[in-house]
Amino acid sequence: MTLSPHPNPLPGGEGLGVRANITPMTLYSVQYGDTTIEYQLSFAARKTLAIEVHPDLRVTVRAPEGSELETIRQKVKKRVPWILRQQRQFESYLPKLPPRQYVSGETHRYLGRQYRLKVSEGDAEGVKLSRGFFFITVRDKSDTERVKTLLIDWYRQQAERVFRERLYVCLTKLRFLQLEQPELEIRQMETRWGSCTPEGKILLNLRLMQVPKESIDYVVMHELCHLKEHNHSRRFYELLNRVMPDWRAKRERLNALEVS
Ligand SMILES: [Zn+2]
Repeated sequence: MTLSPHPNPLPGGEGLGVRANITPMTLYSVQYGDTTIEYQLSFAARKTLAIEVHPDLRVTVRAPEGSELETIRQKVKKRVPWILRQQRQFESYLPKLPPRQYVSGETHRYLGRQYRLKVSEGDAEGVKLSRGFFFITVRDKSDTERVKTLLIDWYRQQAERVFRERLYVCLTKLRFLQLEQPELEIRQMETRWGSCTPEGKILLNLRLMQVPKESIDYVVMHELCHLKEHNHSRRFYELLNRVMPDWRAKRERLNALEVS
């Protein structure tokens, strides 16, 4: 499966993916409980309001020309549960590579770069990254499950070091918040890059070891901001904007990356 490049049209809304106009859009927001939904508004010669949620989680609204801003806001507000559902779907979606075979010649990613596997047989099992290759030694080459285990163990060892380093770098940028060093847990997760527990423990997906460090930092920064602001409130986004002004571009880049 790949991440759909198409926006999710609102059921019943018309004009699937067709740009009605190209006038610059203005950013508005609507408050729904603790959540602030920002949306880009444009006007078009049309009869109904169309709301779209895009894979980068942007919300765009196209309204009939002459609509009242407050009327639009009320209509968007009614649709917030649907918008949040769509966003959650996109947010939790990790684009997947085809199933891995764990044989020589296959490429695997480490911190955003691709390396080719070179599997050879030997008694001293292990993984070594060198000169653009993953050199994997295993007792029986045909035991691809064993190759997979060795590789995942290797990623986990590196993750212990790399995630701690990124956490340190990000915490340094957030010094003014005087956060306590959070507990870190590395997990192999299917649907999330990271999360933050109510107790302040940060969980990072082992799959992040396949993406560039700046993408890891985006996830770490997001989760660290949750230590201060526990939900996706306006205050949370104000903080994130302050400490990582280009987080939207970073999120887009991360969500375009395929992992295995
Ligand atoms: Zn969050």
